[in-house]
Amino acid sequence: MSLEKLSLDKRLGLNRYEIDSQSHIEVDQEKCSKCETKVCLYVCPAEVYKLEEDKIVCNHEDCLECGTCQIACHTAGMGGITWNNPRGGFGISYRYG
Ligand code: SF4
Ligand code: SF4
Repeated sequence: MSLEKLSLDKRLGLNRYEIDSQSHIEVDQEKCSKCETKVCLYVCPAEVYKLEEDKIVCNHEDCLECGTCQIACHTAGMGGITWNNPRGGFGISYRYG
C-alpha cells in the first residue's frame, strides 16, 4: 500500500460536508463595527470570515468546527461571534479523524 503525502488542501478536500441552510455561527455586526482587531479574519483556517463593505461576512458552509474563532473573538475581539455546534447530521465529517 502506498502512502502518498497529501497537501493540506488535498486533505481538506477529502472531508465531507452536510451543509445546513441554517448557520451555526452568528455575528453581531454592532460589536464587529467597534472591533479594532478583527481577529476572526486571521485565525480561521478555512477563511470563513471576510470583510465586505466594512461588514463581517460569515460563510458557515466551509467551517471545520475547530472552535478557534469564538475563542479568539471573545479574548482579542469584541465577542461578536456566537458559535453553536451544527444541528444533528449537519457539518463536517473528517476522513482522517
Ligand atoms: S473578531 Fe469578533 S467582534 Fe471582532 S470583527 Fe470578528 S467577529 Fe466581530
Ligand atoms: S470553528 Fe474554526 S473553521 Fe469554523 S469558523 Fe471558527 S475558526 Fe473557522
